[in-house]
Order: sequence, then C-alpha cells, then structure tokens
Amino acid sequence: MSTIALIVAAGSSVRFGGAVPKTYAMLGGQPVLSHSLQTLGAHPAIDAVRVVIQEDHRQLYAQTLTDRRASPKILEPVLGGGERQESVRLGLESIAPLSPQTVIIHDAARPLLTSTLIERVLAPVQTENSGVSGAIAALPVSDTVKRSTTETTSAGQPLIAKTVDRRNLWRAQTPQAFDFRAIVAAHQMAVNDVHTDDAAIAEASGLDVALVPGEMENLKITNAEDLARAEMFLSAQRGDIRVGNGFDTHRFESGDHVTLCGVSIPHDKGLQGHSDADAALHAVTDALLSAIGAGDIGLHFPPTDERWRDEPSETFVAYAAERLREMNGIISNIDVTIICESPKIAPHRENMKNRLAAMTGVDPTRVSVKGTTTERLGFTGRGEGISALATATIRLPYSHSNLADTPRGHQLK
Ligand code: MG
Repeated sequence: MSTIALIVAAGSSVRFGGAVPKTYAMLGGQPVLSHSLQTLGAHPAIDAVRVVIQEDHRQLYAQTLTDRRASPKILEPVLGGGERQESVRLGLESIAPLSPQTVIIHDAARPLLTSTLIERVLAPVQTENSGVSGAIAALPVSDTVKRSTTETTSAGQPLIAKTVDRRNLWRAQTPQAFDFRAIVAAHQMAVNDVHTDDAAIAEASGLDVALVPGEMENLKITNAEDLARAEMFLSAQRGDIRVGNGFDTHRFESGDHVTLCGVSIPHDKGLQGHSDADAALHAVTDALLSAIGAGDIGLHFPPTDERWRDEPSETFVAYAAERLREMNGIISNIDVTIICESPKIAPHRENMKNRLAAMTGVDPTRVSVKGTTTERLGFTGRGEGISALATATIRLPYSHSNLADTPRGHQLK
C-alpha cells in the first residue's frame, strides 16, 4: 500500500459537553466523523483509511459505518490511548504491517477537509527530491498576537505582557502528511515527551516539514459554537437545493407476497416485474436520479438487460445515492407514498422507513413512508396493481462535475 490515512477520533471531548462526543455529534445530517471518513475514503490517492477510536465509542463508531454505505477502503478501527500523541502512535504502529510509503494524519474534529487540501499536503511528501519528510496544512497568522502576563486587572482581565512578532507565525491544522517510516521512528523516539501535533514530533526528530496553505473552513470543532459554524459552512457549500420526483406502477400477478421499500409483505397476489417489482424503490430511484439530472432508472438499469432479472431493488436505490455522493451531494429527505387498496401499508411503515434510510445512508428521521388508497377508483382501486410516488430533496455544491448520467450500473456487479 502506498498511502494510508489515519483519522484520530479517540478524544473524550471533555470541552464539548453535549450528550454525544463531538466526533459523533450530527453535522449536516451525519456524524462529524463520517465527513472526513468519506472525503478521505473517496480520494483516489488514498489506498486505505484507519480510524483510531476510544473503547467506549465502539458502538457509536459501528453506527457511523452501518448508517452510511461505507467505503471498502475503511479498515477495522484500532483503539487509541489516553492522549492524542499516544493514539497516533498506536494508529501508526497498527498500519506498519501494511508498509505504507506515506501516511496522512487527520483529526476527526476537522470534518470539512477537502480533496484539494489532501492533494496539497501529499504533493511535497510524494515529490521526488523535495527534501522534506512531511507537509502540514497551516494558515498564516493575520491578527496581531499578544502574550499575556499572569497578573490580571481588578476585574480579572489578563494584562498584556508583550506583542509577539507575527511574521513567520502559522496556525497548524490537520491533515499532516509524512513519510511513514520517518514519522513512526519520530513518534517512537518521542514517547516520553509531550507534543500537540505530529509536525512537532517530526521537528523534535530533526525532520524537515513543509507548510502548505490550509483552509479557513477546515476548522476544528471544540465546542458547540464551532459545530454551528461548521454547519453554516456546509450549508453554504451545498446551497444548490433540488427536488426530484418519481412514479412507478406494477401490475398484480399470482403470488404470495409483494416487496415494497425492500420489505416483503405476505399477500394473496404478487407483483409482476423484471426485478423484484418494488414499485416504491423504483420511484425513489427515479426521484434521486431526477434530482441530480441523471435520467431515470431505465437508462441505468435497462429492463432488457438480463443481469437485473430478480435483482433486489435496493441495488438501484443504493446506486442512485452513490452517484449523488460522488457529486458531493447529500439527501435532505425522501418521501414515499404507496397507492393501493391492499395490502395495508401502516403496519410496515416503520420497517420500510428504516430499510430505506439504511440503503440511502440517511438518518431515518429524514425518511417518510405512507400508504393511501384511491377510494376504490381506477386501477389501484380495482386491485389491479400498486403505484408508488416518491419525492427526494437533495443538496449539491453549486459547482460539481456532473457525470452522473453516464450509466454504469454494471460496475456494481
Ligand atoms: Mg418499476
């Protein structure tokens, strides 16, 4: 393996407060950790991602993965130590058997890292004869910097001792990229010292580390205000709000069950169709594909193609959701209405909602499923078939490369 990303998520986040540790707090509808996990996992220059977690967070971590459709690049997590430095060292030692050339170390508390930033820190480390063993994202200090005294005013305000020359001062962020062997050795040498980032450990070992421009949006979430600020950045980044709809009908035939929203419901008839005839999921697939301007289900999964015979329709929904994620978009909500006289939908609603949430990678609170009848009127009223209507609201960045309408359903197989 040539490049592995290590995400440090082992902090107990005592400063954050709140019911959930900051790494697992919700941001833009998903846990903070899953943002960097997705960005790093999706980056073509990164071969694998490992997260260093805390023992107490095992379940939260597992939920983060099961709720989203996790990238196959994500390795099993490892447990960290009491301090960040120890957690990083344990993470580094855990990937040593994979012999990476380069490692990117990133704090889960910085969810808004971009692929551009990843490329920026990798470049100096992976350029032949660059003379550096590491590169970190950092921002030049633009404010005037003061050092305070230990004395205070009578009102308890600190006093200025000195104005510090801000020239050549930088604020270090993560990601930080290093030559793997060099940073492991540096960490092992620094076991008894205390450093606040990995570049400091590299410095202590005499390694040369380059500074590359960080990003203001790549903020570190320490408290609730930071989380609100990150939420604001995210909203601005994905301001292109779109709605798509889908409609589908399948005719009844003889059978003993119907499949709707991935849930098998016993019935005195079945539904006719090329796949599993899940009209609800076909409508959802169309709603998602329409919202990203990617045609419809027939374009990506032609009914003439034998590969999709008896295919579970979850495949189609997951495919559409994946195309959306590739465009760096997110699903705001999905609403499904199933139209039939029978079977009754209400007893299965909760189950359908959870299935749909899992296959699209969104929180169940953003999914709604309901049934209705047409008062015995029309074909659904006469019990000739089932129709379904779906609406999806999504958010996209204003600038994205839209290659989503190129069918490539075959790559799923
Ligand atoms: Mg259909």
